[in-house]
Amino acid sequence: PPDVEQLGRATWTFLHTTAAYYPEKPSPTQRANMLMLLRSLPLLYPCTNCANDFGEDIKVHPPDVSGRVGLSRWLCERHNEVNEKLGKEKFDCAIEKTDERWKDGPTD
Ligand code: FAD
Repeated sequence: PPDVEQLGRATWTFLHTTAAYYPEKPSPTQRANMLMLLRSLPLLYPCTNCANDFGEDIKVHPPDVSGRVGLSRWLCERHNEVNEKLGKEKFDCAIEKTDERWKDGPTD
């Protein structure tokens, strides 16, 4: 079985980075592809318990694929749901904070 912690860190890195660089104004095709990527996770993610819980969470909170600001926040909030479940600290989902972590780096 996969190492669920390492897989999680790698997957969050991929998802948050992809959200941070997603267009401000995505085309209909870009939106449709992002929706497919996110809706695939509950079906394909190789941690069954993670995948099932994520599937339930995105039923209640449908993906916001309207643009990079909305998507970054939506994903941050989904990650916070997992953080809460695992007893980890919550992350501040302001775009400045998600961009600092996943796009621009600290500006000092
Ligand atoms: P991670 O949670 O992997 O976070 C990596 C980095 O992201 C952090 O160091 C921080 O800099 C940043 N970060 C933290 N929170 C946020 C946020 N809200 N927004 C933006 N950036 C943030 N593990 C389980 O044991 N059970 C599960 O049910 C489970 N479900 C998962 C579902 C999904 C969809 C994914 C991708 C992962 C899941 N995981 C689950 C794995 C879990 O979320 C962690 O990745 C793993 O426990 C390693 O945690 P970590 O403390 O190294 O940091």
